[in-house]
Amino acid sequence: MALLITNACINCDMCLPECPNQAIDEGAKVYEIDPLRCTECVGFYEVATCVAVCPIDCIKPDPHYPETQTELLQKFKRLQMA
Ligand code: SF4
Ligand code: SF4
Repeated sequence: MALLITNACINCDMCLPECPNQAIDEGAKVYEIDPLRCTECVGFYEVATCVAVCPIDCIKPDPHYPETQTELLQKFKRLQMA
């Protein structure tokens, strides 16, 4: 499941440089995650690094993009080949 940044985001920029998939952008109002690039860090880390660094815990699972661990790993592999 891709992750989602809620409107509580304070645009602190802690998460953006930490994303191994370049899935995070500044966005119009708050930072945003591209669901086509977010693998929940599967393939890189044991935990979602953006969640680990966010000081206000405003990054949540995106219910619109349900994915299994296997699908996330396949997405990781696709992104590596692109
Ligand atoms: S969970 Fe990982 S891949 Fe997804 S946006 Fe956060 S840092 Fe990037
Ligand atoms: S770390 Fe959290 S508060 Fe900071 S920009 Fe990212 S989502 Fe927003």
